[in-house]
Amino acid sequence: MYRLARSTAPAAAGALTLLASLLGAGPGSSAATPVVEEAAAPVVEEAVYGRHETPPATPAADPPPKAPVAVGRGGAVSSVDPDASRIGLEVLRDGGNAIDAAVATAAALGVTEPYSAGIGGGGYFVVYNARTGRVATIDGRETAPAAMQPDAFINPETGQPYRFSPELVTSGVSVGVPGTPATWDEALDRWGTLSLRRALAPAADLAQSGFVVDETFRLQTQENAERFRTFTSSADLLLRHGVPAVGSRFRNPDLARTYRQLGRKGVDWLYEGRLGAEIARTVQRPPVSGATDLPVPPGSMTRADLAAYEALRQRPTRISYRGHDVYGMAPSSSGGTTVGESLNILEQYDLSSMAPEQALHHYLEATALAFADRAAYVGDPAYVDVPTRALLDDDYAAERACNLDPDAAAPKPVAPGDVTSYDGECPAASGAAVTDDNQGRSTTHLTTADRWGNVVAYTLTIEQTGGSGIVVPDRGFILNNELTDFTTVYDEDDPNRIQPGKRPRSSMSPTIVLNDGKPVLALGSPGGSTIITTVLQVLMNRLDLGMSLPRAVAAPRATQRNTANVVAEQAFIDAYGAALEAYGHTLVVAGAPGTSASEIGAVAAIGIGAKGRMTAVAEPTRRGGGSAMAIRPLG
Ligand code: GLU
Repeated sequence: MYRLARSTAPAAAGALTLLASLLGAGPGSSAATPVVEEAAAPVVEEAVYGRHETPPATPAADPPPKAPVAVGRGGAVSSVDPDASRIGLEVLRDGGNAIDAAVATAAALGVTEPYSAGIGGGGYFVVYNARTGRVATIDGRETAPAAMQPDAFINPETGQPYRFSPELVTSGVSVGVPGTPATWDEALDRWGTLSLRRALAPAADLAQSGFVVDETFRLQTQENAERFRTFTSSADLLLRHGVPAVGSRFRNPDLARTYRQLGRKGVDWLYEGRLGAEIARTVQRPPVSGATDLPVPPGSMTRADLAAYEALRQRPTRISYRGHDVYGMAPSSSGGTTVGESLNILEQYDLSSMAPEQALHHYLEATALAFADRAAYVGDPAYVDVPTRALLDDDYAAERACNLDPDAAAPKPVAPGDVTSYDGECPAASGAAVTDDNQGRSTTHLTTADRWGNVVAYTLTIEQTGGSGIVVPDRGFILNNELTDFTTVYDEDDPNRIQPGKRPRSSMSPTIVLNDGKPVLALGSPGGSTIITTVLQVLMNRLDLGMSLPRAVAAPRATQRNTANVVAEQAFIDAYGAALEAYGHTLVVAGAPGTSASEIGAVAAIGIGAKGRMTAVAEPTRRGGGSAMAIRPLG
């Protein structure tokens, strides 16, 4: 059963008083939004898209301004989107804590980034709780339905696997039971001060009034238009007047209503009630329009699958790195083990005394080794025995480092290590090489911090940009395609093979770094399996290479996931390509055929310094730039 132990425990940190306007709001009332002046809709003639009856007029509005860096005290928010960061900041300003702000920001991202996140998906929530001084996590990963078969991704007509994109992605069979609503509920219940209704109210208002379409949203809609046209519900919401123009306003009253009802009725409405029944029906019988040829294999999700869902309390992963404690997400995500193992390998070397290309060579080789282990050993621990302890052990890392030649790149793929026996001495190589799996390129990350010292790093996703492409009719949100994170073709030895009820392996890596027991840095990123290398590279830039946090985030990126080529941004190739090729690395530019976008990741981070000084950092340019905000800005 979907269950959450209700508690009446007081706030995690600080008994909080909300503004009278917030307290006074009734169920579903739009008065629940703490309104500040800049929240007002621009007074201009503008085109309106989304679920509405009037055709578009003249495009006009500018998207809200955004800044990638904010330094201040009293609380901070970093996300990819200015409306979402603003909503998180307003919650903090009104007395909410970092957990409240994280849920409110995430709900707002469900409005403005509906192709990356929302209640149709899942994610991982990592919290530093200032009251206990401990890091805790929620695993809100989607699960496979109980009736999912090992050959679910094989086309019965041809006997061959479905093409990953767009065929398998655009399907009911790839939809996992959503974990995001349960994650929000669990987070608020354990550590928050707001009810779900209050936490969702600002996002409901945003969905109602709409947001100004930017180039990223326009492009993502255009790139997925064929998939959205495949379903009547999706075409109706997302393409009603064609692809929305930049500067037009996109409204989603269906989602506003869904958020309000969810807030009022609680998440049982989704896991045990009518909304769940609608989700199950949509997965089993996607509302195909006939407008495209996509095969849309249906899924088997039932109401019982939804009722069985649980957001899990997980112990975080923890490793020590150069005097810091680095906490991450344990399996079912591979984020914590793979970031942690890579750092443990890198700790064998004094990166800070190396030339930049030498340090980067070590970074690329360390991640190849850790990715070999990720592929060989990591899956949902409820189904497979994951050697988490070994993967995070310093002796194991010392042995893995025996395979790292400081002067030359190893041929890829490299083999996984032997987790059953290790003592820090160099062994002969063992095991078969395993290559990487399918991972999407969507997702979003947010980081929040409050005046009491609580910090949240939260990564959430619906998998691919646009998820399964299926909007639940009249509900305003898209269902995920997270189950494509399973290995497509069943192999009994693969820890990430399809199994009923299982969580597919993730790469999401929300990370919190402590020093002397206090948080100093929290971060995360989207980007499929490049999430792991992006988080690692920012950590290395910051902790080893002496970069400020804004520089560490902005620096050009490269990713080596145990494949023949290093995928790198053009600026990285310009700066280090020749020097790294001298080590034997082959670099291909991100965005070239066979790779994904030309940019790698979209980090949202907060650094915390002396006397509560917070540096919120988002991307300056990737994905159009993100939005960092602080309560009491300094300088
Ligand atoms: N589904 C991916 C994961 O869980 C994330 C998708 C993405 O970031 O593109 O690792």
